[in-house]
Amino acid sequence: MRDKDIDVTPFLRRTLDVRLARPHPSMPTSYQQQHRAGDLHFLKRLNRSAILEQIRRAPGLTRADVATQALLTKATVGAGVQSLLKQGWLREGELQKSNGGRPGRSLYLNDQHYAMLGAEVGVHGLRLVACTLSGELLASHHEHLVPTTPEVTAALLAESLQTLMASPAFAGRHCLGLGVALPGPIDPATPVLRRAPNLGWSDIRFLDLLSPHLPQMTGVWIMDNEAKSAAFGELYFRTGQIPDSLVYVSAGTGIGSGMVEGSHPPLISRGLQGLAGEIGHTILQPGGLYCHCGNRGCAETLVSGWSIRAALGIAEEENLIEAILPRLHEEQVQLTLRRAGEALGTLLLNLHHTQNPSEIVLGGSLVQLGAPLLDPTLAFFKAHQNRLLGTQRQVPLRVIEDSTFIAARGAAAQVLASVIHGPSDLI
Ligand SMILES: [Zn+2]
Repeated sequence: MRDKDIDVTPFLRRTLDVRLARPHPSMPTSYQQQHRAGDLHFLKRLNRSAILEQIRRAPGLTRADVATQALLTKATVGAGVQSLLKQGWLREGELQKSNGGRPGRSLYLNDQHYAMLGAEVGVHGLRLVACTLSGELLASHHEHLVPTTPEVTAALLAESLQTLMASPAFAGRHCLGLGVALPGPIDPATPVLRRAPNLGWSDIRFLDLLSPHLPQMTGVWIMDNEAKSAAFGELYFRTGQIPDSLVYVSAGTGIGSGMVEGSHPPLISRGLQGLAGEIGHTILQPGGLYCHCGNRGCAETLVSGWSIRAALGIAEEENLIEAILPRLHEEQVQLTLRRAGEALGTLLLNLHHTQNPSEIVLGGSLVQLGAPLLDPTLAFFKAHQNRLLGTQRQVPLRVIEDSTFIAARGAAAQVLASVIHGPSDLI
């Protein structure tokens, strides 16, 4: 007799293939071996993931819509939705008219029950968020910090996370886990921060430093590069018209980028050593100034928070933006920002030609410098992006004025994706 809750569709086979090709770093290597193709429990789990994913990407679908789009039977979807409603993942909305059959209730993620935590360790501060399944911020905290050791940073972050978890907006929710975004390449195979040149850290197992301070924290633990986390969150929390691929450029103390593409869940380009997207260390000026990485003429020597500080004599302890804004009338400031802006435009153009994403998102603290930096950036990109193809079509480029919590929120998105697509049962 056929179990109506078991229904392996082409959609799910694709999901499985993607996982086999790129397992999540946090996924145990024995994951696939734990589940045989005929494991009924495993197949039910996959069906629930597929249903949740459909509703997450297109809120308001009915059970019938989900069955059509996920290529599952109505009975399978009915049973899966029932279980997801009971577990607090979904909620029912208004009754929808239907063409012919019985009207069905629209379905949405339930933003009242679960929450994820995300944190970014920046060169000059810690940024923390707690957010709902839809990516809405429940609570956030930004703490300025002068660069210090990984051990001290982990202790301070743990303290701030404890405070955030005690906030009324978070209390009583089930925490799915914590994602931490860091300013440097992460080893794709193991959770090790390979190097953060602007912090002077090398080969840091940051989660190992953090976890002893948070013994009560359960759920998924993830760490990733800050630009990659930000890119992931920008794509993952999008609903409705979702771009095929997206590059996020983080222009702050350093310059980095992250590219994500596809779905179920989106894949992050990492490369062999986690260096994919480290555009700040692509060389724009051979033989130029020395970079923190040791090479000469890297993009960061032309456009980065640290190179602008060096050019304008702004101390590490000062807030860069607050120090520059009153000086915008100075010729040297204008020249420095114009050159930095053109270098940033060059980087965007190089990304366009090497990655060709469906959308580019520009964020980071340097964006707050406004027109003196961004006008040359955007003008350069716009003027040169179509030379090769001779088309009029402009690639969407979105500038985020306040990207304070974008990487922390993205790290929280990675926690959710890991829970929905990971090896464990949905809670
Ligand atoms: Zn460099």
